[in-house]
Amino acid sequence: MNAEQVDTRQFPSQSQDAQFRQVLEKERRRLLQRSGEDGDGRALGRNPDRTDLAQAYASRERDLTLSTLEQEQLEQIEAALQRLDDGTYGRCARCGQSINPERLEVLPYATLCITCQRQQEQV
Ligand SMILES: [Zn+2]
Repeated sequence: MNAEQVDTRQFPSQSQDAQFRQVLEKERRRLLQRSGEDGDGRALGRNPDRTDLAQAYASRERDLTLSTLEQEQLEQIEAALQRLDDGTYGRCARCGQSINPERLEVLPYATLCITCQRQQEQV
């Protein structure tokens, strides 16, 4: 029997917050552990065409240990944990609407709802 399966529908905010906190803290630990180790040379995967840039980043990565992307991720995770403490977690930083929980499951440190995120990407 899996007693950990709580019916989250009955307690939408509290138990989900705890769940997201767990995910965020786990992810933060993973990144912090990585920062203490040699990078695995994983290049920034966003611009596959720009190999020169990727190589430049890869060599810089040895100095920074964490890639720019991972540092940003770590900052976002810490900001999300802060929002959990403040009780503002899960709210869009731009329009103030609740962020879709399904989106938060994919991206627990999301600061924008999907609508605002799309608008920002279009600019
Ligand atoms: Zn929004």
